[in-house]
Amino acid sequence: MSQADCIEVQCNCGRVAFRVTCRITDLYACHCSLCRRATGTMGVTVAVVPDGTFAWLRGEHLVRRWQMPGHDWECSFCANCGTQLPGRNDASTTYVPAGLLDAVQDRLVVRHHVWVSSKATWHVIGDEGQQHPEGLT
Ligand SMILES: [Zn+2]
Ligand SMILES: [Zn+2]
Repeated sequence: MSQADCIEVQCNCGRVAFRVTCRITDLYACHCSLCRRATGTMGVTVAVVPDGTFAWLRGEHLVRRWQMPGHDWECSFCANCGTQLPGRNDASTTYVPAGLLDAVQDRLVVRHHVWVSSKATWHVIGDEGQQHPEGLT
């Protein structure tokens, strides 16, 4: 494993930190209204990593999670500074917000846009990522 494949990230206040030890290249952008409201902007853009390559380094007790009642949508953020943090993607993977991945940003590419049918009219998609009206099937 090269050093570039182990990155350590912290939130804006520094109380929460985590490590990812897999090579990340692909990003997924979600344009649904839940993601848009949670972040206050166009939605979220995330990488998805296997659970075994993700670990909290400190401050996990400050990670606040909120799940939409009756829904599988969940968000995760620092209780102190509000920085969006990694959270559960599915049974075996964790999502990591792309804005936290500055250390490797040069190799990141948005591969898929999901819930484009819910996209904010003011947001213009300007990359080559594949656009899906709803979720990935
Ligand atoms: Zn914080
Ligand atoms: Zn979404």
